[in-house]
Amino acid sequence: MSSAKPSIRLLATGGTIAGAQNASGGYAAAVMSGDELLAAVPQLANLAQITAEQVAHIGSQDMDESLWLKLAARAQMALDDPAVAGVVVTHGTDTMEETAYFLNLALRTDKPVVLVGAMRPATAISPDGPMNLFNAVAVAAEPAAKNRGVLVVANDEIHFAREVAKTNTTQLGTFKSPNRGLAGRVNRGRIHFFGPTVRAHTMASEFAPLAVAELPRVEIVHAFAGLRRDLIDAAVRLGARGIVIAGVGAGNLSSAALRGCAEAAHAGVAVVRSSLTGGGVVERNIEINDDELGLIVAEELNPQKARVLLMLGLTRTSDPAQLQRFFQIY
Ligand code: ASP
Repeated sequence: MSSAKPSIRLLATGGTIAGAQNASGGYAAAVMSGDELLAAVPQLANLAQITAEQVAHIGSQDMDESLWLKLAARAQMALDDPAVAGVVVTHGTDTMEETAYFLNLALRTDKPVVLVGAMRPATAISPDGPMNLFNAVAVAAEPAAKNRGVLVVANDEIHFAREVAKTNTTQLGTFKSPNRGLAGRVNRGRIHFFGPTVRAHTMASEFAPLAVAELPRVEIVHAFAGLRRDLIDAAVRLGARGIVIAGVGAGNLSSAALRGCAEAAHAGVAVVRSSLTGGGVVERNIEINDDELGLIVAEELNPQKARVLLMLGLTRTSDPAQLQRFFQIY
């Protein structure tokens, strides 16, 4: 019996998992390196041989499109190495769901790719990062994790990139998958997978491997009672190729703002209606005649994930019907 452990590449980007608490009760994210995070969990040697690469040193509120492209390129390079069994990305929790969904559509691989973060800094009382990291490596090293798309591991749960959302500012159980549920559970490295996702990803993604130098500008406009059209008009003036409406209810917005959206769509800007409720589907042609106005609906994607898919979609087409198709596949 061979005792060789699977080879896992850790791509470190910062976040609270690499954070250090200060005396006044606050903390700074992204203080520790990937190597330091690994050194804090010696039990990882029982699971895998891990090499770390520092891709960024940020709180994930500073994640952006150019860093996504860099991270995707580094991850794809690791995944293309036949010696590498899987990739783990340490990442802040604020934008983890966006990065996970982006990689889910940008990477061409059947190998496990797992994003992991923490809600408490590494130097806090009872940090959650070390166990999260242990569980994430266990999942990345697990052959049964192949072909499930990009996963997020935290708080003993395994989430699909498409489904996961941060839902609480501080609690360890912040990540939820409100629409379609968990990908599985992981308890001290012991893994229980549930059913696979039915939405396309990685090997079936027509965007992967992603080969673009930049992503088109897409803005999000948040709806509320009394929303004016000014920010929609401003996004068009600023050259946005797409606008995502974080709509009230099932992707609704005021009549004035809707007129702005219809004019934007008429001018060739892709306009997607999503919901800020945190759950449920935004369907076509319910209270709003999307066919007539030339609008696109996000289905279950939250506004920030709808933005990710719209950016990727706009690298291929600006035809609203084609873009709508992406929201039905991914
Ligand atoms: N602001 C931090 C970040 O996203 C929060 C965290 O990691 O939990 O980097």
